[in-house]
Amino acid sequence: MKIGIFLEINNNCILPVGLELIGKTIDMMGSRDYSIHGIVAKSKNTNLLNSNLNNIEKYLDEVFIYEYEDEYLTTEHFTEALCDYIETENPSILLLGATPLGRSFGPRVAAYFKTGITADCTQIRYEEEYGLIQIRPAFGEEVLAEIITPKSFPQMATVRPGVMDAPSKSGEKQAKKTIHNKKLFGRKLKIIDRYDNKPEIELGKAKIVIVAGNAIRNKEELLLIHRLAKVLGGEYGVTRPLVEGGIASYSRQVGVSGTILKASIVLLLGVSGSNKTLAGIGKAKKIIAVNNDPNASVFKNVDIGIVEDWKAFTENILNKKERC
Ligand SMILES: Cc1cc2nc3c(=O)[nH]c(=O)nc-3n(C[C@H](O)[C@H](O)[C@H](O)COP(=O)(O)OP(=O)(O)OC[C@H]3O[C@@H](n4cnc5c(N)ncnc54)[C@H](O)[C@@H]3O)c2cc1C
Repeated sequence: MKIGIFLEINNNCILPVGLELIGKTIDMMGSRDYSIHGIVAKSKNTNLLNSNLNNIEKYLDEVFIYEYEDEYLTTEHFTEALCDYIETENPSILLLGATPLGRSFGPRVAAYFKTGITADCTQIRYEEEYGLIQIRPAFGEEVLAEIITPKSFPQMATVRPGVMDAPSKSGEKQAKKTIHNKKLFGRKLKIIDRYDNKPEIELGKAKIVIVAGNAIRNKEELLLIHRLAKVLGGEYGVTRPLVEGGIASYSRQVGVSGTILKASIVLLLGVSGSNKTLAGIGKAKKIIAVNNDPNASVFKNVDIGIVEDWKAFTENILNKKERC
C-alpha cells in the first residue's frame, strides 16, 4: 500500500505539518506493509534547504518533486502536480496539511478523482476494513465524527497543523528521488507579485499563554490582558468571539480554527470552555481558568479553577507585579 504526503514549502523549508503527517502515518500504520511518499511542488528557482529535505527524506521511501518553470505557483500547479502523482502512483491514502494552500487545492484533486476528502481532521486512524478513518469535530463541536470513504480512492484528508507529533525516532530510510520538470499549459491564473503578510504573533511557540474570552469586551480591557501576559513573561491569545468582534487579530485566535498551543501554562480568563477553544489548548501542561460562574463548563477541563471576576484577578496580579 502507498501513502502519499504533500509537503508544503514556505521560505525554502518544508512546513512542520509535513513531518507531523509523517510521524502520524508511521504511528498509525505500525508494522503493516506500506510505503510512504513525499510530494513537493515548487518553482525550479526555489532552492529547498538541504538540511530540511534530508531530515524528511530519512522517513520516506520516495520523494516526487515537481519543478515548474513559473516563479510563483498557484492552486493550478499544485492540483496538476498532485493529480499527476496520483495517476502514476495510485496511492491508497493521501494526506495534506490543513493550511490555506492544502485547503484550497486538496478538494480540487479529490473532485478530479471523484473521491472524498475530509477537511480539518484532528485525528486519523487506520483500520483494515475501512482504510483511513478521518476524524474531526462536527455539529458545533458536540461530536467527533468518524468519516470513512471505503469505496473511493485515494482516501484523502487535510489535517490541522500542530495536532500530530513529528516522528519520535530518527528515520533510517534513503528516499528515492524523482524530479519532474513541468510546464503548466492553459493556466487561468497568474501571480504577478507576492508578499508575505506576517502574522502579528506565532502563538504556537509561546510557553505561557493568557487566553482572553468573551468576557473581555473591548480593546481597553484586552490591553489589561496584554499587560498581564507581559509581566508573566508570556503572550496573549483570544477566543473566536474577540476576533469576530474586531477586538483582536486572527493570529491571536486559539482553538480548532485558530492556533493549537504548545505552551506549558495556559491561563483562561472569562472563557466558557467550548470544545472549539479546548481543541487548541489540550497539549498544555497546566491549564488554569478564571470564571465568575462557578458552574462554567470550563472548570471540568482544567487543572486549577478560580471562581472570580477576571478583571479583579488581573488587576490584583498587575498591582503586585508592576509595583516590583
Ligand atoms: C466552525 C466554528 C469554529 C470555531 N472555532 C473556534 C476557535 O478556533 N476558537 C474559539 O475559541 N472558538 C471557536 N468557535 C466559537 C465557539 O463555538 C464558542 O462560541 C467560543 O469559543 C466561545 O468563546 P468564549 O468562551 O470566550 O465566550 P462565551 O461562551 O461567551 O463565554 C464567556 C465566559 O466568560 C464568563 N464571564 C463573563 N463575565 C465574566 C467576568 N466578569 N469574569 C470572569 N468570567 C466571566 C462567562 O461565565 C462565560 O463562561 C468556533 C465556532 C464555529 C461555529
